[in-house]
Amino acid sequence: MRARGELSPQTVQAPRYLYVQTFGCQMNEYDSLRVEHMLARQGYLPASDLSSADVIFLNTCSVRQKAEQKVYSFLGRLRSLKVQNPELKIIVAGCVAQQLGKKLLERFDYLDLVVGTRGVSSISELLERVQNKGERLAHLPEEENRQSWQQLFARSSSINSGVVAPVTIMQGCNNFCTYCIVPHVRGRERSRPIAEIIREIRLLTNGGAREILLLGQNVNSYGGGLPGKPSFAELLHRICAETDVARIRFTTSHPKDLTDELIARFGELASVCKFLHLPVQAGSDRILRLMNRGYTASRYLERIERLRAICPEVGLSSDVMVGFPGETEEDFQETLQLLEEVQFDNLFSFRYSDRPYAPSTDFPDKVAEGIKARRLIHLQSLQAEITLRKNRNEVGGAREVLVEGPSKCGDGQVMGRTEQNRVVNFQGPERLVGKSVKVKIVGAFSHSLRGELAEDLD
Ligand code: SF4
Repeated sequence: MRARGELSPQTVQAPRYLYVQTFGCQMNEYDSLRVEHMLARQGYLPASDLSSADVIFLNTCSVRQKAEQKVYSFLGRLRSLKVQNPELKIIVAGCVAQQLGKKLLERFDYLDLVVGTRGVSSISELLERVQNKGERLAHLPEEENRQSWQQLFARSSSINSGVVAPVTIMQGCNNFCTYCIVPHVRGRERSRPIAEIIREIRLLTNGGAREILLLGQNVNSYGGGLPGKPSFAELLHRICAETDVARIRFTTSHPKDLTDELIARFGELASVCKFLHLPVQAGSDRILRLMNRGYTASRYLERIERLRAICPEVGLSSDVMVGFPGETEEDFQETLQLLEEVQFDNLFSFRYSDRPYAPSTDFPDKVAEGIKARRLIHLQSLQAEITLRKNRNEVGGAREVLVEGPSKCGDGQVMGRTEQNRVVNFQGPERLVGKSVKVKIVGAFSHSLRGELAEDLD
């Protein structure tokens, strides 16, 4: 007897292949994963390269000018593929899709489907329309179709997952930093109910995930709009109590919403990794005010001090932008001072660029590109010294490492991370993947550590 839904021999189709290319943040990575899951249900297998794909899904980022240019150059390369294979369907999603909508279809006449940031849940139905009716569509809904999002997870008993699995807990942002287009392309904050998040985490841990990465543009303000307004600290507590996840990380946090209640969780919940990514953006109060960040440098430093008092081993990373309109040499020096004071373990730094819809695009006193470039080099070399010094301080100690997979170094090594988010490569069998092991740190580099297994394996 044939199981329900099984195909008869007459209906067996040739396999179809999906190629996914993702630009931008972890939210985009997560949306791409959802698309892979949804289209896997329609029988799509991962394509090994662009030329073997039946469908190309391009998830885009427009937060920085450079990221947007990468998208256009990638799209340009697809024209010849479409000429060779007119049946190929090309989909563009993400922030560029949301921002440009139909204009993208006009500019790239070989594009089939443009899907806004809140339209990803409907991808299967949309693709069917494109394939069966030959339509070219731009789908930019106001709200995500939550029903199909829930169905995606409700219908699975487990999802094959990597050791580290992302889970979106909220979308959008209410903050309106003056340089940022996220509130424009992702809309206002909407949080997912706790029960839905916990159901997804259980599926992921059943499928092999050991570490969950909670995602949102501003996870610290989780809960607004939900019944009872649960806080992010409460969500962390519920996840620890109701799932068997080994590690939890989260990103992105906003300094103005880093509450004492949340800081306390770093000391109370063993599964919450001793690591926080807390974007500061600038060390000058005048620039922070122009950016509309909602905190001062001293308030930021006070939050860090409090966190370190509760969790002295916490690892810290941050984002810094140089060359915001009106940034003087003095303002920039204040940013360098803040870096010296905090001693971040890692830093993501960028040059400011004008973005459509961002209020700062109209601000006066733009900083010359040459000055921005010089400041960025200065800042990055200072941080490189700090990072290397902090990595060297690890040598001689032992750390708990969650093994994520084979190391890029090859040579029989595996790679994992410490709670503080440091990458450690060490000699070990692949059966360690997914396990937490004690590793002695024996070497330090700019971006990673070298270790030796410090425990006997059975
Ligand atoms: S907090 Fe500011 S920078 Fe972050 S997404 Fe919201 S508006 Fe953009």
